[in-house]
Amino acid sequence: MNDNAYLKCIDPSCGLEYPISSKNIECERGHLLDVKYKKTPSTDLKELFYARRNPQGSIFNESGVWRFRELINFCQIDTTNQEECSKYLVSLDGAEGRQSKPYQMSKVANFIGMNHDSLWLQPEGYNPSGSFKDNGMSTAITHAKMINARKIICASTGNTSAAAAMFTANENMECDVYIPAGQIAPGKLSQAYQFGAQIIQVQGNFDDALAKSLKDAKERDGYTVNSINPFRIEGQKTIPYRAIEYLNWQAPDWIVYPGGALGNISSCGKALMELYEWGWIKKIPRIAAINADGASTLYDLYNGSNLRWNKGKPDTEIIKQYYHDLDKKGIRPKTKATAIQIGRPANILKGLRSLELTNGVVEKVSDSEMLDGMSIVGLNGFDCEMASGATPAGIKKLIEKEIIKKDDVVVGILTGRQKDSSLPVDYHNNPANRFAIPPRD
Ligand SMILES: *Cc1c(COP(=O)(O)O)cnc(C)c1O
Ligand SMILES: [Zn+2]
Repeated sequence: MNDNAYLKCIDPSCGLEYPISSKNIECERGHLLDVKYKKTPSTDLKELFYARRNPQGSIFNESGVWRFRELINFCQIDTTNQEECSKYLVSLDGAEGRQSKPYQMSKVANFIGMNHDSLWLQPEGYNPSGSFKDNGMSTAITHAKMINARKIICASTGNTSAAAAMFTANENMECDVYIPAGQIAPGKLSQAYQFGAQIIQVQGNFDDALAKSLKDAKERDGYTVNSINPFRIEGQKTIPYRAIEYLNWQAPDWIVYPGGALGNISSCGKALMELYEWGWIKKIPRIAAINADGASTLYDLYNGSNLRWNKGKPDTEIIKQYYHDLDKKGIRPKTKATAIQIGRPANILKGLRSLELTNGVVEKVSDSEMLDGMSIVGLNGFDCEMASGATPAGIKKLIEKEIIKKDDVVVGILTGRQKDSSLPVDYHNNPANRFAIPPRD
């Protein structure tokens, strides 16, 4: 053990630091925390990571998360020692992140109006629980195990609970899942049941469920694995690692995500800044976050109110006023893409930081645009859910606005696989839909 890794508050005017073994995943003053590393990892590791694609009997080489373990070594273990890895690192037998890499999809490129070879889409739905959430859950549960936490708590629009329940079942831990009653796709809810989680139904929406779960976690000594957990953010860094490694560490021009609680863009921004500072990449890709029209907090604040990270001094009054107005008008987030039906993105400040560091943009798309995006991905033979359809739909919109240029290299993340079987059935049964193939007698 050494002292390379520690936790640090993201608010520069606070800046409190905590040891990595801290039980609190938030700053005592209520701010978000970052995992920080003192040492610069050598670029020689690029070859080691590549060599591990032949796993040589190690599940930690097979894992698309732990293959990069030197870059997320908050456990501060000897990463070449198999026995030590097995003792600390939590893995679904190497399956998290194993299947995810960028693919070219010609029909999606045509739909968007891009060159076939400059558009890459990375299906994170090919994770064991069916979404990108497994990337960060392996690292969050690793930290939970490190500090001997017994009860894992999360609020979820479905995929977080599926991932948390799968990992906790494997590790023989307890898992309490807070869901907005009646608003979870049955295919996601059933996973939490199947993996033995305790479901707690909260009347209200996701934002209400999160608030209740955070309160209960404090009172009942629970360990929160929502994306405010900085260790989840560490695991999710491997999503851009895999994409950029696949492109021979040539940074693309853009990385595009659907935006919900904004853990992904927070994590991607951190990954890119670190890679850039370490000299692993020569330029920083721009991040694009795509909101749903019906849950467009980031879009409204970033584009409408010009809210910026502002080097660590964001005008948080603008956010408070926006939430206050939503409440006063009784506006609830509303989209069929339930994974991004979030009105109060818990990572908004880290998200803004990522946008500032990467010169990012925010776009929003309608439900019907997302369904078209989801469906054209399907016609290429790849599976994704409606929220992930925001990625192709958002790229298309940004191309039309000439913010993304036609020959820019773009990596879009498809965050989860289809778990709401009624959506494609309804889509294809309506001949008015752009890509519908209605059934025939
Ligand atoms: C959780 C989730 C999102 C939202 O991701 P954030 O990192 O919270 O913005 C998007 N798509 C899917 C499929 C998800 O499960
Ligand atoms: Zn702080």
